[in-house]
Amino acid sequence: MVRFHPTNQTLVGFADGIIAPNESILVSAHCDLCEQCRSKVLTMTEITAELIFEQDKGSKTANIIDNELANMFDAIVSRPSVIPQASVCTTGKSLFIDGKSFKIPPSLQRFSESVGDWSHLVGKLWQAPVSIGGKNLANFIYMERGGSVPEHTHIGNERTLVLNGSFSDGVNEYDTGDYIALNESHTHTPIAALDEGCLVFSIIDEPLHFTSGWARLINPLSHLYFKVSTKN
Ligand SMILES: [Zn+2]
Repeated sequence: MVRFHPTNQTLVGFADGIIAPNESILVSAHCDLCEQCRSKVLTMTEITAELIFEQDKGSKTANIIDNELANMFDAIVSRPSVIPQASVCTTGKSLFIDGKSFKIPPSLQRFSESVGDWSHLVGKLWQAPVSIGGKNLANFIYMERGGSVPEHTHIGNERTLVLNGSFSDGVNEYDTGDYIALNESHTHTPIAALDEGCLVFSIIDEPLHFTSGWARLINPLSHLYFKVSTKN
């Protein structure tokens, strides 16, 4: 079940197209997996479009529109939340890791040709860089069962979307579809569940700052075992 969502402010920014492109990628992919946020964004987009139309007609002043937008927005976010099941992507490209196939959410499929080779890091951890343009660093990260990312903090923002499986980080437990926004004030140690591996997509502003011992061990043969499918 999806428990962690972008803030309402982020969703409004996404609907208005004013949040940073990298954040927009993750919010969009989260909406692929979360019906609740998808429906909020749709409503926000419709309201904004309608109000802009009213403004263009000159029938309402900017002040009235701002007030109406605020009221409508309050009404949307105060609705009792329906907690839908994470929807499963039924079409699109897959990522093959650890003998398993994972569907990539539609919003991330355009990057499937930009996924680099998988590298084996310490602690049952695999990473494949993804070129998304700009200076941000994006990666698919796969934690094998019980695998963990060494304790680290962040320089700038780290945004993570859980694509499949679950992990805990000593603060919360995250499941498929969860959207996690962290910054330099957070230190955590993600650990995958013991019964299944966990695939996440993560975008960071700056490389992680590891606060416990960290050695990166590249397996030069990893690309022979891990690949991205380009088939639908
Ligand atoms: Zn959501």
